[in-house]
Amino acid sequence: MKSKTKLFFLFFLVLFIYIYFKYRSFEYSIIAVLAAGIIIFWLKSQWKKRKKKPKRVAIPESVKDEVLRRQGGTCLLCAERSLIQYHHKIPVHKGGSSLDSMNIVAVCPTHHSLLHAQEEGKKLNVNYRN
Ligand SMILES: [Zn+2]
Ligand SMILES: [Zn+2]
Repeated sequence: MKSKTKLFFLFFLVLFIYIYFKYRSFEYSIIAVLAAGIIIFWLKSQWKKRKKKPKRVAIPESVKDEVLRRQGGTCLLCAERSLIQYHHKIPVHKGGSSLDSMNIVAVCPTHHSLLHAQEEGKKLNVNYRN
């Protein structure tokens, strides 16, 4: 048994005995232990959820505008103008910012997926111009 599990087990045991001697009721003890278990489980899942989510900030419109202006309104790699998506040069999960326009490029869906494929290790030679 892991020490953490042991500690939880001990905690529940102590709680059980405490409630039993206080109220002289097995039912109360069981309910208290179950309630404590549920609360701990819930807190743990909440904490995990918070830990998993990196704070992902949406790219502000002002940054999008700046990027488009810099690129003359087209995809960074071709002349596409209408289907523009925004891509992080350094991904958010690696510490890249959504607020720094130099970390954002505007690309068409095709080049966007190519950039991601290249980042995953495929040799495609898609290079940033700036
Ligand atoms: Zn393109
Ligand atoms: Zn992207």
